Amino acid sequence: MRKKTGYIALILSLLFILALNQTAYAQEKAEKAEKVEGEESVSLPEMNYKEMNALIDKVIFQKIINIINFIKKYLLIMWAFFLTWPSWLKKIAIISFIPACIGIISSHAIGIYNNRNKWQKHPYYELMYSYFTKSGTLQRKESYADAHALLYDHKWSWVSFAGLAYRLGNYDDTSVMLAFLLSFAYIPLAILGFIEMIFRFIFGTVWLIAFNLLQKLILFITRMITLVLIPLSNIIDNIIKKTQHCPHCYETFSLPEFICPSCGRVHKKLIPGSCGVLFARCACNKVFIPCVSFTGRSFLDSKCPSCSSELYAANPKHFSITVMGGNNSGKAAFLSSFIHLYKSVINHKRILTIEGKPDGYFKEMEEMFHSGIPSDDDESRIYSIIHKYGKMKTDNLVLYDTLPKFIVSDSYPRSPKYFGYSDGIILVIDPLSVQHVQRDFKNEKGVEARDDPSDDTNQMIVQFIHQYNTICGFSTGIMSSIPVAVLINKIDVDIVKREVGMDTIRAKYRENPSAYKNLNDAKDQICRDYLTKIGLINVVNNIDAIFSNVSIFPVSAAGHAQNEGKTFKPVGVMEPVAWIAKKGHSRIAGLLSSGVKYINN
Ligand SMILES: [Zn+2]
Ligand SMILES: [Zn+2]
Repeated sequence: MRKKTGYIALILSLLFILALNQTAYAQEKAEKAEKVEGEESVSLPEMNYKEMNALIDKVIFQKIINIINFIKKYLLIMWAFFLTWPSWLKKIAIISFIPACIGIISSHAIGIYNNRNKWQKHPYYELMYSYFTKSGTLQRKESYADAHALLYDHKWSWVSFAGLAYRLGNYDDTSVMLAFLLSFAYIPLAILGFIEMIFRFIFGTVWLIAFNLLQKLILFITRMITLVLIPLSNIIDNIIKKTQHCPHCYETFSLPEFICPSCGRVHKKLIPGSCGVLFARCACNKVFIPCVSFTGRSFLDSKCPSCSSELYAANPKHFSITVMGGNNSGKAAFLSSFIHLYKSVINHKRILTIEGKPDGYFKEMEEMFHSGIPSDDDESRIYSIIHKYGKMKTDNLVLYDTLPKFIVSDSYPRSPKYFGYSDGIILVIDPLSVQHVQRDFKNEKGVEARDDPSDDTNQMIVQFIHQYNTICGFSTGIMSSIPVAVLINKIDVDIVKREVGMDTIRAKYRENPSAYKNLNDAKDQICRDYLTKIGLINVVNNIDAIFSNVSIFPVSAAGHAQNEGKTFKPVGVMEPVAWIAKKGHSRIAGLLSSGVKYINN
């Protein structure tokens, strides 16, 4: 109520000042008009820029200066009046004025301090509106309401005559003597307090209204700036944020759900907006959380927006490879060897670290590498290798281990959506799965090459291509440019090594260099010739029909006969992955090609 009266009084006085000023101005003008006869009238359309400026200056700025001069004049008159007061009255006024000033400033400060943590909740998101959009206005309104209440309340302050008089007036003591003595102090304190409260009321109201208007103006300007910055921040965020894939449901998305580190609330849409341009306040009102990639949003724990499973990293650059192979083709040994070698390459580099997820899978792979005994895999697995520069998770190399039985039966435990977004495909072929190679092996070594009979790699590839075409929406005749590396495994076995071992390939290339474009081409052609010879060329022909980027690599995933119980000694397992990465992921490609050099030296 008192606040309202204050506002009305201020507006009325301003109007009064304006009216007085207008009258004085009109009078002055009339006097001037008498002196200067026949003044030209102003015609707006004929004015040029300079004249327009001069007019604005005259109409607005001159008016303001006039008002200021007018106020100054009356303040000086009041000051002159004050000087005529008897000195004891002046002293009383000054003595009361000092605590009044302290009361005004502390009311203002306490009002702001008490409301510093008030934020307006967004109706749809688990976030507060940002200070510059709505919460600032809320804090401003409430802090001035509190400040006004404190200003007109004489009871609370200790540095105040009014406050001391109030306390003294309410002091209860049984001692009559003390009460008598205190009553002597009460009367002057009450008089000084009364004058102090008049000062507080007049100057405090003007002070708070002026600051309120100033803050309102600043908030308006910052709100306008914020409205411009929101789309700008969104554009940058959209450029930086990467498409990622859920390792649990294979869904593709670019904005995960983020978890508040303080209260665990899940933020489904943590992007720049009315809740913040760079940081947003969580609805728990305890923390600001980054709401854009470049302020560290990806450091927050995140969830898949589709299945709500926990993600290993938020917004890393994905590099996904589908790994396939027939039963006992050595696919598990290949994965184990590649993961082991890649880890040692990264450890050697020391500029980054990697984290294998899920932990259990990577532990198993490491055990397999050292024990040399490949375990039977019975589930489709995903190996995520998260690359970390400090705390920053930049890249995610994902290996999708795909079981042949699911491809052949065309019944997947989870949708094989990832075929569609894989950056490359690796197919592991075991030449020993061909019966006549098995026979040759038995003739030479006197033992069986492998325990189980052959498996139909070709049937698996036909089914895979069918599924791949369905997922990618390819019709016949359209080719996919994603790289496919076909691995001829087990080049540690003599009968294979003699045909496609790297020494053989190099020798053949040296013998007849003109027959090949380069050593790589020689490797490819010699491997193709070998697959033709053993009757597996259909597999490659089927792949060639749909993929335009196919290369064949001779490898030995285990480095020796499997189940020997010796630590793997892999040969050539990094090269196919490096070749795929070169076509799509520069950072991982760089790491892999330096890895290939490091391992071959
Ligand atoms: Zn929170
Ligand atoms: Zn998911």
